[in-house]
Amino acid sequence: MRAIKRSLSDPIGACSSGFRLDAAYFVGYISLMAHDHDHDEASHLSEMDLRVRALETILVEKGYIESAALDRIIELYETKIGPHIGAQVIAKAWSDPAFRQLLFEDASKAVNALGQERRIGEHLIAIENTPQVHNMVVCTLCSCYPTDVLGLPPMWYKSFAYRSKTVKEPRAVLAAFGITLPAETEIRVWDSTAETRYLVVPMRPAGTDGWSEAQLATLITRDCMIGAGLPKKPNEVA
Ligand code: FE
Repeated sequence: MRAIKRSLSDPIGACSSGFRLDAAYFVGYISLMAHDHDHDEASHLSEMDLRVRALETILVEKGYIESAALDRIIELYETKIGPHIGAQVIAKAWSDPAFRQLLFEDASKAVNALGQERRIGEHLIAIENTPQVHNMVVCTLCSCYPTDVLGLPPMWYKSFAYRSKTVKEPRAVLAAFGITLPAETEIRVWDSTAETRYLVVPMRPAGTDGWSEAQLATLITRDCMIGAGLPKKPNEVA
């Protein structure tokens, strides 16, 4: 039961207006997941598709969710919510000292001040990479993720291999992503929960003096905001 309750709240972050909306977000979320898994629905429905459709049908019939609400949620996550929001946040933190300070004091408040599509809840924590410390984010239990600022999690984030190995051998996981950090750099691993999500603020790349926030945002990848990557170098986007 605990796992189910966590899953219901997992994809929505800030949303707390009752089971009806929780259920709609949950089904919308797994509908997207199912869509990710199988595009060959004309001839074959995967087991995941069948389960999602059965769940959707029952919840609609019982009046817990509305199909129109589901469509709206799916559209939201396909077109409006994604890592471009996180990139905007990081670029501003690199450019605006007052925003940077607020971000580390209260990340939810800082991000909401930017006027996103949806207000995020009071659960987001920004963690700063420095030459001394590199941060990585994982959810060891399931797949808790800062969806409001990064969109849907990548498949590898939800894999058992990432969830288990990141805790035990973060350096090896980084190597698998092509990242080698100095031996003296400490790697801290943060375990996300339904109540607490983390956003890694990477170090601003050298050679970007005078860049606008829009230019800086082009350097910021989804993976570097999870800690599984580094920002692009200026010559990679020039
Ligand atoms: Fe989780």
